[in-house]
Amino acid sequence: MIKTKSFAAQEPTSILAPFDIQRRDPGADDVQIEILYCGVCHSDLHTARNEWKGTLYPCVPGHEIVGRVVAVGDKVKNFKVGDLAGVGCLVDSCGHCHSCVEGEEQYCENGFTGTYNGPLFGGENTYGGYSQTIVVKESFVLRIRHNEKVLASVAPLLCAGITTYSPLRRWGAGPGKQVGIVGLGGLGHMGVKLAHAMGAHVTLFTTSPGKIEDGKRLGADEVCVSTDPDQMAARATQLDLIINTVAASHDLDAYLSLLKRDGTMILVGAPAEPHPSPNVFNLILKRRNLAGSLIGGIHETQEMLDFCAQHGTVSDIETIPVQYINTAYERMLKSDVKYRFVIDMATLA
Ligand code: NAP
Ligand code: ZN
Repeated sequence: MIKTKSFAAQEPTSILAPFDIQRRDPGADDVQIEILYCGVCHSDLHTARNEWKGTLYPCVPGHEIVGRVVAVGDKVKNFKVGDLAGVGCLVDSCGHCHSCVEGEEQYCENGFTGTYNGPLFGGENTYGGYSQTIVVKESFVLRIRHNEKVLASVAPLLCAGITTYSPLRRWGAGPGKQVGIVGLGGLGHMGVKLAHAMGAHVTLFTTSPGKIEDGKRLGADEVCVSTDPDQMAARATQLDLIINTVAASHDLDAYLSLLKRDGTMILVGAPAEPHPSPNVFNLILKRRNLAGSLIGGIHETQEMLDFCAQHGTVSDIETIPVQYINTAYERMLKSDVKYRFVIDMATLA
């Protein structure tokens, strides 16, 4: 076993603090990665505080992991010691259900194994990226083709990037499409960058007037302050698709009304409290769709990383020492992140 320093929450109300965990010794199919950077996702906070229920403690969050390969098993073909590598939200799945066979491991019928908080349908806990090292099956390890100089800014692509890329691709974001992105946080800022890189016309919806300029710099063609009824009304029936990243319960009708006939709003934000039910007529009268989407499969995550490497796309980050994590969580709750915290894991030593 490999003794590993980490930061963990011991119960829903405790702050995150230093904690020693054990990693398995790499098996024949395993890659061991020294973690250099780990992004801070709002899901980490939801889980550490048991907001979605079912958190296993101790809880070591972190599923936006980048680092360097330090050991590989005998059967590992595609990674060698010294390579850069990434790990996202998944570290295993059954491998034989129809979702796994179709490369959609995140929808594994038998429950994927999360990078932290263990198998979806019960089983042993797993510990995430707020730690020094991780051992992962080769088939769940991603290749990083960005320049190593921007490695810290690549970390958030492993969750915020794929969670917005996957629905943008599935619902056909591209030239001629009017795409709305709701919320300019970690996911939202990647949604803006990626939809822009795909060639769509992008409208950002934010509750924070102070983010207008950043929204435009990041790639939005238009920014709408969603708390202003006039700005919202001016956009009624304009959009083909909306990616909603908001991490709190809110009125969905305000956004559904902005969809054209047959338009779709995809919920990726996963608030602890349910949204109020949308007005059925708002859907029926324009055959509008309300959908959800969960991260992305391993193959699509690699496709997204390569797309970003080609387009020079990375996340806008604020690098923090691990000891700052509890303050970072409080700032995230105030929508005060520009636009992803990334932990420099050297600070854990
Ligand atoms: P984040 O960085 O905290 O961003 C959320 C943004 O939502 C905020 O910056 C804010 O943007 C907006 N917002 C927050 N509270 C709001 C409120 N009460 N009303 C309106 N807007 C509000 O969070 P994140 O890391 O991007 O994650 C967002 C959500 O996605 C979380 O629930 C997370 O668990 C979930 N998630 C889902 C998946 C998936 O696979 N579906 C994957 C990862 C994360 P403005 O200031 O611009 O309004
Ligand atoms: Zn995440």
